[in-house]
Amino acid sequence: MALAMEDRVIVAGGGPVGLIAALDLVQRGVPVLVLEAASTPIQDPRGAAFHPPTLDILDRLGVLPSLMEIGLKIPIWQVRNRDGSVVAEFDLGILAQETDYPYRFHLGQQKVMPVLLAALAKHANAEVRPDARVTGFTERDDGVLVEYADREGTSHCVSGRWLVGADGARSQVRKSAGIEFEGFTWPERFVVTNLADDLTRFGFTYTNYVTDPDRWAVVLRLENEDGEPNWRITYPTDPSLTDDEVLDPANVQSRLVDIVAGAEELHLRYSGIYRVHQRVARQFRKGRILLAGDAAHINNPLGGFGLNSGVQDAANLAEKLADVWHNRADEALLDRYNRQRRGANIEFVQKASIRNKAMIEERDPDAKRQAQDQLRAIADDPQLSLHYLLESSMINSIRAAKGID
Ligand SMILES: Cc1cc2nc3c(=O)[nH]c(=O)nc-3n(C[C@H](O)[C@H](O)[C@H](O)COP(=O)(O)OP(=O)(O)OC[C@H]3O[C@@H](n4cnc5c(N)ncnc54)[C@H](O)[C@@H]3O)c2cc1C
Repeated sequence: MALAMEDRVIVAGGGPVGLIAALDLVQRGVPVLVLEAASTPIQDPRGAAFHPPTLDILDRLGVLPSLMEIGLKIPIWQVRNRDGSVVAEFDLGILAQETDYPYRFHLGQQKVMPVLLAALAKHANAEVRPDARVTGFTERDDGVLVEYADREGTSHCVSGRWLVGADGARSQVRKSAGIEFEGFTWPERFVVTNLADDLTRFGFTYTNYVTDPDRWAVVLRLENEDGEPNWRITYPTDPSLTDDEVLDPANVQSRLVDIVAGAEELHLRYSGIYRVHQRVARQFRKGRILLAGDAAHINNPLGGFGLNSGVQDAANLAEKLADVWHNRADEALLDRYNRQRRGANIEFVQKASIRNKAMIEERDPDAKRQAQDQLRAIADDPQLSLHYLLESSMINSIRAAKGID
C-alpha cells in the first residue's frame, strides 16, 4: 500500500539557511520538518558578516532585534597594504537613502542559530529534529519520501510534499538528486584564526582587507561567547605545506605578526584550516527537490557573500514555495527561483568573490598600483562610492535578481 504523503515541507540541514527557510515557510503558513545531522548546532567560527539585504530578511522574520543586541554594526571598511598603509576607506553611511541598514553587521553564525531555533520553537507546525542525517530520498508524483539515519545509525523514513536541500557544501540531497556541482577548488587552503588582542591599536578598523600576493589577509572584529573582543584573521596557506605544518603554533604566530604590522606577539584563541571552492549547482530545482545555501553554491570568503547569498536564497524560495503551497501559483514559479538565485550567484557572488581575491593578491606591481589608484578614486568620489557600495553590499544583486522572470 502506498504511504500517504504528509502535508509539509522537509528541510534537510538545520544550518542558518535551512532554519531561515523553515522559519520563513512556517510564518507563511507552511508546516515544516527540519532534519539536522548534528546533535547541536555547529560551533566552528564560520560566516560572520551580514550585508544590508540579509538584514532586511532577518528583520521581516522578526529575529533582527535579538541579533542586534549581540552583534556589531560596522559602517566602515578599509583596504590596506601589509605595511599598514591605508589604500582606501569606505563608509556605508552613504547607503542611508538606499537601505535601513547602512552598515555591515558582524555576528558569528553560531550565535545566530539559537535565535533562529527559539523563533521556530514558537510554531506548533515546525519541528527541528536533531541527530537525523538524510541519506537519500524517493520522489513520487505527490511528494518525496526522505530517508535519514539517527545517531545509532538506524534508518527512518518521513514524507513531505517538497524537499529543500540546505545540507551544506557536501549536500547529500544534491548528490542523491544527481545534480552536478560545477566549478573548481583553489590550490591554497585558508586559515581562520581568532585573536584576543585589540587590533585597533595597530590602526585596524573593524573590517579590513590587507593586500599582498602571498600573504594577504582579511581582518574582522567580532565578539567571543562572553561578549569580549575577538578578532578574526583569515589568510591563505602555502599549498606545499601540510595542514599540520600550516597550523603549527609557531607558523601561525609568524604569519599573524606579519599581517599586523607593529605587533610582536598575538594571543591566539583558535586556528583552523579549510578548503575553498567556487562552485554552483547545475540546477537549484529538480522536480520536488530544491537546493539553497552552500548546498547550491560555494565561494571564497572575500566580500562575505556565502552565508548572505544562502539566506537570500532561503527567503526567495520560501516566498515562492508558500505561493505554490497555498495554490496561489503554479509550481513553474519554482523554476523562477532557480533562474533568479542561480543567476544572482553566477553573475554576482562568483564573479565578485573571484575579483576580490584577484585584487587582494595582485602580484604585478603596475597592475596593483593601477587598481589601488582606481579604488582611491572611487573612495574619494561620493557618486562612485555609492555605486561601488551598492554592488559590494549585495543591494544591486538582490535588485537585479528580482528583475529576472
Ligand atoms: C571558515 C569560514 C568562514 C566563512 N566566513 C563567511 C563570512 O564571513 N560571510 C559569509 O557570508 N559566509 C562565510 N562563510 C560561508 C558560510 O559559513 C556558509 O555559506 C554558511 O554556513 C552556509 O550555511 P548553510 O546553512 O547553507 O550550510 P551549513 O552552515 O554548512 O549548514 C548545513 C547544515 O546541514 C547539516 N547537514 C549536513 N549534511 C546533512 C545531512 N545529510 N542531513 C541532515 N543535515 C545535514 C549540517 O550539520 C549543518 O548543520 C564562511 C565559511 C567558512 C567555512
